[in-house]
Amino acid sequence: MRDKRSQTKREFLARTGASAYEESLNTIIDRILDDNCEIACYPLKKSSYCRQDLVDHSIPDHIVIGFACPPKEPLHWIWTILHEFGHHLSGKPTRDEAVSVPRERLAWAKAEEELQRYPDLLAHQADFHALRDFLITDYIEKLGDKEPS
Ligand SMILES: [Zn+2]
Repeated sequence: MRDKRSQTKREFLARTGASAYEESLNTIIDRILDDNCEIACYPLKKSSYCRQDLVDHSIPDHIVIGFACPPKEPLHWIWTILHEFGHHLSGKPTRDEAVSVPRERLAWAKAEEELQRYPDLLAHQADFHALRDFLITDYIEKLGDKEPS
């Protein structure tokens, strides 16, 4: 299992190009895997998401990071990983909450709490906020800013 974990870390390092933040990236992956959550690189998927079983809560969450979208800055990949981890840290959603703006905001808030652990990443908090605000605006356009009923 140790080998598999090292392999996951090497793959994320290579695909994100985040060698300047290697130690923090490895710690994030450790924290995800140690929290009964899975994470893997998906070279052929365009989107990234945290798969959470709404019915069977014994099934671990699984973070999918899709690398088929246009290349992003290394930090943007890290913000994406933290955001999806934020979904895991938010707990299992109800069916109504599963895809909603409040749920997205909560995941970003959890991601930002996690960000506080990494001084090298925290130095780029403005960049984190820029991506967060851009994506929240995008969610509101797609989903509407409605609280789940
Ligand atoms: Zn999200």
